[in-house]
Amino acid sequence: MIITVGLLGNPNVGKTSLFNKLVGARQYVANWPGVTVSRIEGATVFGDYTLHFVDLPGVYSLTATSVDEKVTRDYLIFSPPNVTVVIIDSMSPEQGIYLLLEAVELGLNVIAVFNAIDEAKKNGIKIDKNTLETYLRVPVVLTSAHTGEGIEELKEKIISVFKKQTRPLMLDYGKEIEEKIRSLEQCVTEQFNKRFMAVKIIEGDKFAHDFVKKECANEILNSISPDMKTEIPLVKYQYISNVVQLAIKR
Ligand code: GDP
Ligand code: MG
Ligand code: MG
Repeated sequence: MIITVGLLGNPNVGKTSLFNKLVGARQYVANWPGVTVSRIEGATVFGDYTLHFVDLPGVYSLTATSVDEKVTRDYLIFSPPNVTVVIIDSMSPEQGIYLLLEAVELGLNVIAVFNAIDEAKKNGIKIDKNTLETYLRVPVVLTSAHTGEGIEELKEKIISVFKKQTRPLMLDYGKEIEEKIRSLEQCVTEQFNKRFMAVKIIEGDKFAHDFVKKECANEILNSISPDMKTEIPLVKYQYISNVVQLAIKR
């Protein structure tokens, strides 16, 4: 049985280093369709499974502006992997957790990897995995692409989350925005995760706007205020700040 696994993360968090540790020499490079962005893939056999990894271009969020970001966003939305491993820099995890929350909002089957744990240990940073798992509601693995710590555990967790997805975290954006999300959910075409698309429409993402149904009333779109737009990342960063305070001692 083949499990496809996307490696998602901000630039320079160790995606390619982990990818190399996971698949060794069994990798090949092609291009993503229509663009000159490298598509790096590789597989490894683990127990009864073949884990097929895709090393995705680094992104800060799932709102795409550059070609690289579009490649990653389109892959996750239009051909989601069985499991998405979100790689987070243990030394400064906030932006990585932000991306993780978006991946969860999109409905992806997610594992959180806190990488460069060797560096964190050297700097006396303590990461409480259980607290992270409690608040992020996804399996968490602490890894080092340099020492190899956590690599085998990551493979095990990929298989267990493939067999049984965890109940996803759903952030509450407050009464006004939640009502807006409910009406916008009726506006997006069927094939997408409705809540994710509704949130992206409020954030002003052009991509999401392109999938609004023709018959959707303009007044719904026109009643999105600039405050709502900024409130969404604020709620995410407030949640992240609480999680980091509880789980990471620096
Ligand atoms: P990518 O841009 O996410 O693919 O990141 P890379 O794999 O290219 O790594 C970026 C930099 O971080 C490189 O200098 C790596 O050697 C370093 N790096 C990656 N993983 C680790 C790790 O686990 N520990 C430490 N100390 N450095 C790492
Ligand atoms: Mg890089
Ligand atoms: Mg890379």
